[in-house]
Amino acid sequence: MTFDYKGYAGYYLDIDLTKGKIHKQEMEKEWARLYLGGTGVAAKILWDRTGLETNPLGPENVLVVGTGPLTGVMFSPSGRMMFASKSPLTGVWAESHVGGFFGPEMKYCGFDFVIFTGRSPKPVYLFMQDGKAELRDASHLWGKETDVTTDMIREEHKDPSIETAVIGPAGENQVLYSSVIVDYYRAAGRTGLGTIMGSKNLKGLAASGSLGLEAYDMEKYLEANKVEMEKLRDPLWKDSLASLRKYGTTDLVAIINEIGRLPTKNHWTGYYELADDIGPEIIANKYRIAQEACHGCVVGCKYIITVKDGDYATGPIGGPEYETLMAFGSNCMNNNVESIFHMGKRCDLLGMDTISCGKTIGFAMDLWEHGIITSKDTDGLDLSWGNIESMVKLVDMIAKQQGFGKILAQGTRKAAEIIGGDAWKYAIHVKGLEASGQDPRAHQSIGLTYATNVRGADHLRSISCLEELGYPEITAKRFGEEKADAILEIMSPTHKGELVKDMEDFYALADSAVICKYAVMWPPVYYMDTFTNVIAPLTGMDEWADMRFVRRAAERISHLRRAFNHRLGITRKEENLPPRLLKDPMPTGPSKGGLPDLDMMLDEYYDYRGCERETGFPKRNKLLELGLDDVAADLDTRGMLSKN
Ligand code: SF4
Repeated sequence: MTFDYKGYAGYYLDIDLTKGKIHKQEMEKEWARLYLGGTGVAAKILWDRTGLETNPLGPENVLVVGTGPLTGVMFSPSGRMMFASKSPLTGVWAESHVGGFFGPEMKYCGFDFVIFTGRSPKPVYLFMQDGKAELRDASHLWGKETDVTTDMIREEHKDPSIETAVIGPAGENQVLYSSVIVDYYRAAGRTGLGTIMGSKNLKGLAASGSLGLEAYDMEKYLEANKVEMEKLRDPLWKDSLASLRKYGTTDLVAIINEIGRLPTKNHWTGYYELADDIGPEIIANKYRIAQEACHGCVVGCKYIITVKDGDYATGPIGGPEYETLMAFGSNCMNNNVESIFHMGKRCDLLGMDTISCGKTIGFAMDLWEHGIITSKDTDGLDLSWGNIESMVKLVDMIAKQQGFGKILAQGTRKAAEIIGGDAWKYAIHVKGLEASGQDPRAHQSIGLTYATNVRGADHLRSISCLEELGYPEITAKRFGEEKADAILEIMSPTHKGELVKDMEDFYALADSAVICKYAVMWPPVYYMDTFTNVIAPLTGMDEWADMRFVRRAAERISHLRRAFNHRLGITRKEENLPPRLLKDPMPTGPSKGGLPDLDMMLDEYYDYRGCERETGFPKRNKLLELGLDDVAADLDTRGMLSKN
């Protein structure tokens, strides 16, 4: 049997780890038509199969590993894949995407999705090859770091081209922000997906495929693809793309510091005076030795570094992204870039999210400065700002759940609960997820983005680059001439509800398709019309050529993920910001005095989203319009549907 729609591999695996049973199923037609792939399909699966009672670390939790129709096909970029579940860190929606080559390889094995439930009685890994899959013993891999795990799997199969997605000791030890590592140094980092794999005794996935993918109408698809590629050549973003090729995301250290948005000293301010020491020029000139690209990407932002000598000498490793430079750098007042390379590398080998790890250490340093913790609490470690020796020790202590590291392994929200007193005031998170590298006091729409993001305080579900990069023609085209000026004003809350709602919907499609956000969304090269151009000729789903259908699909996915969180208790009260970011004006730097007007933006956002202002709950008519009748009925029984 072949799946009706092209571009997909056509099958998914439904795996009960407790019983060791693998069920190979044909892809569901309605999943593709209504939710496209990636995050959309994951939302549908997780809505249907999990709920309030699901313990994120219990065998009943469901882990979805997914790709999209644009994964592994001729498209730039096409190397992306995703993981989704109920998060052990936040207790709500968990999702993380990663580039590289594993996603395409999984599709070449013949599988669009893998769904894991249960808990294996002993460590296993999933091996997929050309339409077949088996669970293999991973007892000998348990306890191994991610690079050794990948090497051993390749060795075992005598195939150095096998692609892997594996966890390290942090995931096995149930650090709540453990990541999944792909191709040695690419991470699905956020929300603890690696922790869930560890709880299931699942060490990793390995794929070696040679099956092809087809387009429904190859001639038309190639034509549509050419149109999208031409967009990348527009002189409008020539400089941005050149910078991304030269510096990777490290150039954001300089750009964001200049705006006054670089989290510094656990968000005491947004400007770091020593930012040049951890910024793009020094890294490019002194350490970078090569540049790499994910599957199919014509940009290639990933860079490789070495450190020749000193305490942190290393052979070639993946250089840290902007977020890692921020988390272990400015956030902890650490201007020693080689130590940041080292901690980033340790996080990749241990399988730990660099953002949550660095932000949690910064939180502990803040507590230290304010006398809330002392050396009696920290196993004798001095946690003064920028104490590199203590930071480096803590990274491994967290991964191994040793001493004070055991408390920090819980993330800032839970660590603050354990420490007690005023510690919660220093925990910079939303819904339990440590804030990524943007301070919302310097950029109004980021405040709203953090508050409404279904996975918590980060920028990857809706950030708009329009305000900081300033594309008036594009902004006017998307939102109309009248609103464009206010939308482009970075410190104005006006029209930001509409902007964030629109970006959330666009990102929902990108994360369902599944494509990378760098290069094609920052700068704003692609938009909704990318999907109306390429999906129909690729898949044969004609409705996807219709913009109204595409926008409805985007809204459907956004609402379903929000409903997933409502069912777990999320209301307007939780769509909030930590007190420091909401009430203490930015004290120094270019954005001095800035504060987000969250209430105003939330009201507008709920209006555009089709939700009630008081609670944030969806309106019945909106859900019915999107075909989410069962979701409306479920939320209604729980009192989580708008009364209006
Ligand atoms: S822009 Fe960078 S992260 Fe995105 S696909 Fe290309 S190389 Fe990978």
